[in-house]
Amino acid sequence: MHDSHPHEYDPQAVETTWQRRWDERGTNRTDLAGAGRPFYNLMMFPYPSAEGLHVGNVFAFTGADIYGRFRRLRGDDVFEPLGFDAFGIHSENFALKLGVHPGELIPRNIERFRQQLRRIGLMVDWRYELSTTDPAYYKWTQWIFVQLFKAGLAFRKKGAVNWCPACKTVLANEQVINGYCERHPDVKVEQRVLEQWYFGITKYTERLLANLEQLDWSSSTRQLQTNWIGRSDGAELAFETPGGQRITVFTTRPDTLYGATYMVLAPEHPLVDALATAEQRSTVRAYQRAVAAKDIVSRKVGEKEKSGVFTGAYARNPATGQSIPVWIADYVLMEYGTGAIMAVPGHDERDHAFAMQYKLPIMRVVAGPGQNAASPLPAAEPDIADGHLVNSGEFDGQPWEQAKRAITAKLERQGLARAVVNYRLHDWCISRQRYWGPPIPIIHCDSCGPVAVPEQDLPVLLPYVADTRPDDSGISPLARHEEWYRVACPKCGKLGRRETDVSDTFLDSAWYFLRYPSADRADVPFDAGLTRKWLPVTSYIGGNEHAVLHLLYSRFITMALKDIGHVPFDEPFTRFRAHGTIVKDGAKMSKSRGNVVVPDEYIAKWGADTFRMYLMFLGPYQEGGDFQDKGISGIRRFLDKVWGVVQACRRADVPQVETGIGDERHAGTPARPYAELERLLHRTIRKVTTDTELLDYNTAIAAMMEYVNALREGAPTAALVEPLVVMLAPYAPHFAEECWERLGHSASVMDERWPAFDPALASAGDVELVVQVNGKVRGRLQLPRGAPEEQAVAAAKADPGVRRFIDGNAIKKVIFVQDRLVSLVIEGR
Ligand SMILES: [Zn+2]
Ligand SMILES: [Zn+2]
Repeated sequence: MHDSHPHEYDPQAVETTWQRRWDERGTNRTDLAGAGRPFYNLMMFPYPSAEGLHVGNVFAFTGADIYGRFRRLRGDDVFEPLGFDAFGIHSENFALKLGVHPGELIPRNIERFRQQLRRIGLMVDWRYELSTTDPAYYKWTQWIFVQLFKAGLAFRKKGAVNWCPACKTVLANEQVINGYCERHPDVKVEQRVLEQWYFGITKYTERLLANLEQLDWSSSTRQLQTNWIGRSDGAELAFETPGGQRITVFTTRPDTLYGATYMVLAPEHPLVDALATAEQRSTVRAYQRAVAAKDIVSRKVGEKEKSGVFTGAYARNPATGQSIPVWIADYVLMEYGTGAIMAVPGHDERDHAFAMQYKLPIMRVVAGPGQNAASPLPAAEPDIADGHLVNSGEFDGQPWEQAKRAITAKLERQGLARAVVNYRLHDWCISRQRYWGPPIPIIHCDSCGPVAVPEQDLPVLLPYVADTRPDDSGISPLARHEEWYRVACPKCGKLGRRETDVSDTFLDSAWYFLRYPSADRADVPFDAGLTRKWLPVTSYIGGNEHAVLHLLYSRFITMALKDIGHVPFDEPFTRFRAHGTIVKDGAKMSKSRGNVVVPDEYIAKWGADTFRMYLMFLGPYQEGGDFQDKGISGIRRFLDKVWGVVQACRRADVPQVETGIGDERHAGTPARPYAELERLLHRTIRKVTTDTELLDYNTAIAAMMEYVNALREGAPTAALVEPLVVMLAPYAPHFAEECWERLGHSASVMDERWPAFDPALASAGDVELVVQVNGKVRGRLQLPRGAPEEQAVAAAKADPGVRRFIDGNAIKKVIFVQDRLVSLVIEGR
């Protein structure tokens, strides 16, 4: 048997062999119906770009794959599916650039991706592969639209949108960078008013926010969602005009009402026409026209130079009874609050800048420590608004939070206020005036209005049209094809018109995790039994760049489907971990810098296992690291050493062969006695088990490196080497399979059990260190006597108890007393 094995580690040969065997033996297949301990290990499916797999994809998938393999070795039935998120504007624009139809380009990209993904050795059950562009998939994307439409959660409304004249489509706010298109850095984004399809995600705002507390998610991700939803507690206050109009404003700081010296309305506010005096009317109109030509995002971000005009009208401050001027200005937006504000220039930055520019009165109404009513306001910027009230009549002296409630309550009794909660989150616009997406399954009828396509007529196939180019009219390319859109109304039979917009790519990815276990089923979107068994997703790993769109939309779709009665749970992802990003030689990878790591080249040179392990060794998985070419050979040397130890172990089974590892230096009496190696083995198992569970793959790899170095100084036996090979299997799966076979096993190493450690052996020679965070004891660590500061601090930071108190804050100072204490001082607490 050994004779057919080469003695040198040849990654290409090993990886080719094992990928073939996994296919033949069905090693990566999961018995979905029969699984006893279902563990759904999800990773964010890639968008199959023409450039091929990005190193960031390999980093993300490898980390998720290691975790899935680890759980399988721990006894779970792990399901690890993968597919392709292949609709959308990126593919479509690229196809236009090449002059190829996206329907031809995308399948080619997918095929290339599939080859690359197989090459990196993921434990994917490819029988459940899906692509969002497949009619068998988007049939159900359309079905979900129909369910939401029937439930009143999909509706049309007019809205001001960002329009990129180069993309010729609507952009989401986050695709607009400083007023320019993210894809076209020299094209200014315009504002257009269009009738679009929306999903009523704002009906779920409170639930989306409240559930976040319960989820086992990365705290950074939960924070991003919380900020995105943007709940603010405040009040609506009424300012009356002499003409009898009421201007309602929303403010989070009703306590500053005495300092409101003027008001500002959005130029689009419906009261502007009625308020503008005859003298000011033409100025107001001219300003409104100028603002309409601007994009929304630069209005939101705000320009240094403020602009606005006086309407000529005045309104009464309900607290002071004084008449204050009413202005319009583009820094006030219709979509936030009520489209009108009370301006408090003493304590608000934008109001201050505006008041300075137009010489409007500025007043202090809040005094901080050491200040009083007469303290001057700084000229360059407003004063902080944290303190007690001054210049505020009966409320003087009250802390601002108390005054906020008291002033709101007083005005409420007068019918001039109402406590309200406002959110930053808006309804989800899902219309795209483009070609490459699933047609929205609606037929417009003059008599019946919008009618859902009957479920038995789904999918509404995206027709092949040669001219996929959008034009400047703001309508979809499908709107140029009367032969396609002219159809009978499903209700009354009269001639109707298909909706010619396609749906947003984010809808495709908002439910794909429901589809995987049922990807082979044509009769249902997702099988009820399999859904109950496999969902919610046990573990989801992906990038925080999707924290607010994909993850929020997926949560909303799941909640909506639950309420409609299609799934039995509220939240799709029980546990979510955000991985970090990798840079190259300290800089973000980009084509223009010429520092893009092309995975194929590295895999061809080093093999997938070495590449996988190198990526994981760059830093903590949830933080990322810096890719440097010279580092990769260290991983290869490590695998060569393991290979040597495995070879030595095999020879040790045969009599009259030396007991070293074949290296002359180590022949004869081993430097490391067996008992010591055994203790080190148990310590290593403990470390690798803990770290792999926490996704701290880099320190797990370091522990295995240390162990193999020790093994080389002793006499490796199967009892010492086999556990190492099993622990390596998640990290270097092909390599581990080959070693496992060479150690005399015929079954896959993935069918083994993760090694157990003896706690007594693992902690022999340990000392206990106390961990403090800002002076308070937050944990205790068992570490080998004499462990250096670096190791102790790393262990302290990795401790789940301690981690909770660090909570992502920067560590300002470390105090270390060997074998006794690690004391961390952090900011923000
Ligand atoms: Zn653009
Ligand atoms: Zn009709």
